[in-house]
Amino acid sequence: MDAAHTASTAPILILLGPPGAGKGTQARVLEQKFGLVQLSTGDLLRAAVIAGTDAGKAAKAVMEAGDLVSDAIVINILRDRLAEPDCAKGVILDGFPRTTVQAEALDALLSETGQRINAAISLEVDDREMVTRISGRFTCAGCGEGYHDSFKPTTRAGICDTCGGADMTRRADDNAETVGQRLDAYHAQTAPLISYYARKNALKNVDAMGDIARISKDLAALVAHATA
Ligand code: AMP
Repeated sequence: MDAAHTASTAPILILLGPPGAGKGTQARVLEQKFGLVQLSTGDLLRAAVIAGTDAGKAAKAVMEAGDLVSDAIVINILRDRLAEPDCAKGVILDGFPRTTVQAEALDALLSETGQRINAAISLEVDDREMVTRISGRFTCAGCGEGYHDSFKPTTRAGICDTCGGADMTRRADDNAETVGQRLDAYHAQTAPLISYYARKNALKNVDAMGDIARISKDLAALVAHATA
């Protein structure tokens, strides 16, 4: 990574939580409020699949099955993105790290530039809700705003409240079968990171069930404290 690009005091935040916990939605809110960059490895991988890169070709079937893409691929993608100049503002990691190997790689990467994680925030949710949450979600292809059929519908059917676009997309892996596999992968490989960050005294918890605006408020208070 090009260390020159990244200021050593820039905040580094991690959002932990199972698929459907609201990491993407809340990362977007924090991005705006704190002037940080949302860094989603899921988005980066989906872009690589569309671009047809070697990483994208290797990741496609794995993502469709709801499994985790190899650590080597994801760490490379993350390292390259983190080296881009805009990340000097500070980043919110959404969907990374997802394994202990990734968490250790991130620690090593940050130590190269004298950076540290300000907080790893665990979005606490009831797993049984996640299938419903994920099955109903869709995104504006124009601006990336996320919606949900029941919990966050658009004001006018099919029209984005944020940019007025009418091109809404649903992710290929947001279906009931794949969601089950993604939840299993979370519990087997990602949930152990909660104790990983607790041991480093970096862990914070937020109740992420219920009203999206209340969750955003709780998160903002926590982030303000962690980056002060
Ligand atoms: P997400 O958009 O975060 O739900 O990620 C969608 C899919 O991309 C996951 O189900 C995985 O297949 C893959 N993926 C995203 N981030 C990672 C990661 N950090 N490690 C491994 N696979 C990932």
